[in-house]
Amino acid sequence: MGNLYQLLQSRFDAERPFTYDAKHQLIASYGDLDDASAQYANLFLSLGLVAGDRVAVQIEKSTENLFLYFGCLRAGVVFLPLNTAYQKDEIAYFLNDAEPKICIVEPDKLATYQQLTETLVFTLDRHGEGTAPDNRSTMSKQHSIATTDPEDTAVIVYTSGTTGAPKGAMITHGNLIDNGSVLQTAWEFQRSDTMLHSLPIFHVHGLFLGINLPVLSGCPIILLEKFDADLVLKLLPTATVFMGVPTYYTRLLEADINQMHCQSIRLFTSGSAPLLSQTFNLFSERTKHTIVERYGMTETGMNTSNPLHGPAKAGTVGPPLPGTQCQILDDHGDPAATDETGQLLVRGKNVFKGYWRKPAKTQEDFTDTGFFKTGDLASIDEDGYITIVGRSKDLIITGGLNVYPKEIELKIDKLPGVIESAVIGTPDKDFGEAVTAIIIAEPTANLSEQMIIEQLKGSIANFKVPKAVHFLEQLPRNTMGKVQKNVLRETFMKELS
Ligand code: AMP
Repeated sequence: MGNLYQLLQSRFDAERPFTYDAKHQLIASYGDLDDASAQYANLFLSLGLVAGDRVAVQIEKSTENLFLYFGCLRAGVVFLPLNTAYQKDEIAYFLNDAEPKICIVEPDKLATYQQLTETLVFTLDRHGEGTAPDNRSTMSKQHSIATTDPEDTAVIVYTSGTTGAPKGAMITHGNLIDNGSVLQTAWEFQRSDTMLHSLPIFHVHGLFLGINLPVLSGCPIILLEKFDADLVLKLLPTATVFMGVPTYYTRLLEADINQMHCQSIRLFTSGSAPLLSQTFNLFSERTKHTIVERYGMTETGMNTSNPLHGPAKAGTVGPPLPGTQCQILDDHGDPAATDETGQLLVRGKNVFKGYWRKPAKTQEDFTDTGFFKTGDLASIDEDGYITIVGRSKDLIITGGLNVYPKEIELKIDKLPGVIESAVIGTPDKDFGEAVTAIIIAEPTANLSEQMIIEQLKGSIANFKVPKAVHFLEQLPRNTMGKVQKNVLRETFMKELS
């Protein structure tokens, strides 16, 4: 089966609920999804779009947004979701790079798009209203799903691009079918599940896990506009699966999540950023639930997951998923020893086919044997569980010696009065880079730079001990909960100069 939508359609039952809103009112059935996605596919065909043409969307989360996504899949055109936070200059870059045939945008962005592009622009707001749904509702509900090859691009997702210009990752129907099926089995998704969905859907986590997995099982989704800890606590008893980034779990703990909230839940998953062992342990103490941490990225979908029933190891992302091969290479390009940190490479049907219109970059990021260089540093333990140590670009080289920020962060996080930390390299005339720590302390803790440095000395080699320690109220994070080390580097570099 080449077209993802064809597989999904074979799994759902038209009579069954597809989405509910935050008040648990039915928004759409699977039959509605099938009709509306057919209408979108027909709209694209009527506008002359052909297989492979891009449909750029910069819209808030709604059921109508999902109709649009599935309409693209079944028409064989490429869905191109853009983060709703992007502003004019960024939008100009994406329009120029992706050359979409149609754009569908929030009404308040219409004027910006019309200034930037000659292509047709429709609107769609967070309530599911606009010229896009108006036009699709005039279309026929009969549509035969486009025949696509597993190698055909289904979705282009731009990587967040903390270094260099964002790159469009071409994710194929085959990637999504394979990764979806593997995860459905690994996490035992059933028609009897209900997904409580609070992630954004312009990102692979919220779209390919949060939406594709329940649809593959034909089960309902409670679609929240965004994450809100109190609302999630209220709705957890009506759901069986919840997926989050680590900050969602810290917020739920702050909101006093307990066993009562979680009685109907069978699966909590976390990813997109490292889940601290403290969060994992505290969550399990309070709720008696184990958070299943998994690891993936835009370019690869999911690569590893802690087992659903087997032992989950805090701080690790579990072993590779079936069909995905992971390799960890040392500085000489040889396989790293057990527990040794090295570059993580992955290969499998889950791995994307390349970067949009960047063949040289694609070639650079794949080895001759078809492994993709993730840019993550990782180690593998004797049981085959992988630990992500951080991005290789965050590696600090001080006086010619490698320092892995995560090792220092874990030490700092254990110090009394510390909530969390981030360790970065800042330019230093003697050492090239200096280890610099940024700490979020408990409000009542009276910590100083000197105290932190003194406590670390003796527990780690001197060259790893931070040369400077700064205190902040919170760490800068993007919408997926990732700490933005580039922002910290910029901030503290400026302070030095
Ligand atoms: P993105 O392409 O935005 O999904 O980001 C992918 C990156 O997020 C990966 O390359 C990792 O650096 C990071 N990441 C994803 N999941 C995890 C995890 N469970 N633990 C640590 N880092 C993660």
